[in-house]
Amino acid sequence: MAPPEEHSGEIKEDSVAAASSADNLPISTVVFIIAMQKEAQPLVNRLQLTEDVDSMFLKGVPWVRYYGNYKDLNISIVCPGKDPILGVENVGTVSAALLTYASIQALQPDLIINAGTAGGFKAKGASIGDVFLVSHVTFHDRRIPIPAFDLYGVGLRQAFVTPNLLQELNMKVGKLSTGDSLDMAPVDESCIIANDATVKDMEGAAVAYVADLLKVPAIYLKGVTDIVDGDRPTSEEFLENLAAVTAALDEAASRVVDFINGKSLPQL
Ligand code: SAH
Repeated sequence: MAPPEEHSGEIKEDSVAAASSADNLPISTVVFIIAMQKEAQPLVNRLQLTEDVDSMFLKGVPWVRYYGNYKDLNISIVCPGKDPILGVENVGTVSAALLTYASIQALQPDLIINAGTAGGFKAKGASIGDVFLVSHVTFHDRRIPIPAFDLYGVGLRQAFVTPNLLQELNMKVGKLSTGDSLDMAPVDESCIIANDATVKDMEGAAVAYVADLLKVPAIYLKGVTDIVDGDRPTSEEFLENLAAVTAALDEAASRVVDFINGKSLPQL
């Protein structure tokens, strides 16, 4: 994305007017950021996207992009791919942030959708299979107890506000807290509670950080695979529910895509 240029006051007003009229055009390019290919595959199939064999990313990264046109939308689904040595998927904030940055630079999307699985808190109303539309994101494992750095660590950001989408799709709404561990250490738990989060993942707040820097609206769809304040081990519950929740996530994501089609950002 081109850096903002220095303008006189007069030109600045013109560019503001141009930006807001662009906002009123129908959304054309949407990028889904999805951490695991298993989570992405049903949506790739449903939207009949093609894998990009001639990668637009720098040589060496294992990232995967699926792309195609669906109705009036140009859609890409990007995934961080697999660790070249361990063969596991590149979950977590580092890959998510890099992938978001490179995808915005290459594709200049009108909207980013981070879709994926998450742990949910039953005390906050989450059940297995729910798909949440996230209102705010935070981090729970960046504890820096120095004034202002504490808030920087938490990294509270609001998702792009979509009242019409929410009403139409009738999804649950909740705050998301992100950290680089699947398990939940007691100190993380206190931070998640302090962040008032209903769902917990490993990528959302990292995607939000980059989207916010580059001023790209972003929304977050999180399907609950495991209950974090329940009595089952997270990894066991996660694996058991992954396929069913991925199907629910695919269903929700496709309804979101159908809703977005033909609409401008302020209409969401
Ligand atoms: N064992 C898995 C590893 C997935 S890591 C595998 O077979 O590949 C978990 C992924 O799901 C991350 O992308 C994360 O965002 C999400 N997730 C699901 N439940 C979570 C939880 N309770 N806490 C944190 N992340 C969770």
